[in-house]
Amino acid sequence: MNAITPSRQAVPAPVGLLAELTHRCPLRCPYCSNPLELDRRSRELDTQTWQRVLTEAAALGVLHVHLSGGEPTARNDIVEITETCAKLGLYSNLITSGVGGALDKLQALYDVGLDHVQLSVQGVDAANAEKIGGLKNAQPQKMLFAEKVTSLGLPLTLNSVIHRGNIHEVEGFIDLAVKLGAKRLEVAHTQYYGWAYVNRASLMPNKADVDASIRIVEAARERLKGQLVIDLVVPDYYAKYPKACAGGWGRKLMNVTPQGKVLPCHAAETISHLEFWYVTEHSLGDIWANSPAFTAYRGTDWMQEPCRSCDRREKDWGGCRCQALALAGDAAATDPACSLSPLHAKVRALAAEEAAENPPDYVYRTIGSNVRSPLKEEAKL
Ligand code: SF4
Ligand code: SF4
Repeated sequence: MNAITPSRQAVPAPVGLLAELTHRCPLRCPYCSNPLELDRRSRELDTQTWQRVLTEAAALGVLHVHLSGGEPTARNDIVEITETCAKLGLYSNLITSGVGGALDKLQALYDVGLDHVQLSVQGVDAANAEKIGGLKNAQPQKMLFAEKVTSLGLPLTLNSVIHRGNIHEVEGFIDLAVKLGAKRLEVAHTQYYGWAYVNRASLMPNKADVDASIRIVEAARERLKGQLVIDLVVPDYYAKYPKACAGGWGRKLMNVTPQGKVLPCHAAETISHLEFWYVTEHSLGDIWANSPAFTAYRGTDWMQEPCRSCDRREKDWGGCRCQALALAGDAAATDPACSLSPLHAKVRALAAEEAAENPPDYVYRTIGSNVRSPLKEEAKL
């Protein structure tokens, strides 16, 4: 492994590490942000390597570790890995589907110091939720899991990814979060990367439903002040300005894949010309400071107009590079989700057109599938 080498520029310390421990998952959500080519179990990092990565993360200044996947409790060593976080003083957040072996391992995770649980819920109505997640009998398991989380006194966040298949349930997600005793609810409109990009025509809601969902959340925030925090992620295609993707490229977050590839955001592999480094060959500090993938779009020097001269350039950092590549054909372009992008009107029109059509069947997330990214074939806007 290489030692840390001096970086070319002052680099802020990362605050968060997304540890994608495995791509195995009992669910098959059609909006999953995992890549189309999922890592197989045989290629996953071993326990000792994850423990070394976590130790390096703590030394770098990382505060939060998101134990994610896939389904992180599918790993036999999830308790050991969580215990390592606790020993290193890292705040651990388990991002889980709540099915499979999750419930069986929860007590042990609590005992070794797990700090927080984020549970995904695909829908409120069980039949709808199980259709979206592609797994029968998942909903009762999730409800039992949530009850156990709160009975242990662990803070619970519910994560609901919103799309045209469940946008009519936003009020229901809020009621469910209150009923389950969650402290926080994420109403996160689908971001169109990974499997969601393949399924965009099935998932894209119309503008009227999006606006209604925003009004419901705003009213509930007032009503439930002090009881439930609701985070709202609006859909990029209908937004005025883009989000600062991952808090800005290479500024706050690192994402380690099951086989140890380190990404600036979970969709970064769609930018195929980038060179990604592995934790098996480099230290985390070296990757953060010097890996070509991290330095490519860090800061503002790489920006084109209109971002280059825009006074929001250090607020949203030009939006999402993966979306710029997907929609504009150039990862260094202004994110077309931005109303200042010359392509924005076409993005809006595309969303409206897809939302008005009959939704095609879901392409479910599957390991070993031969689903190909439409990015290469799609005519750009
Ligand atoms: S989005 Fe669905 S399929 Fe993807 S990791 Fe989460 S629960 Fe599993
Ligand atoms: S032009 Fe660029 S920096 Fe300005 S708001 Fe749009 S994406 Fe952000």
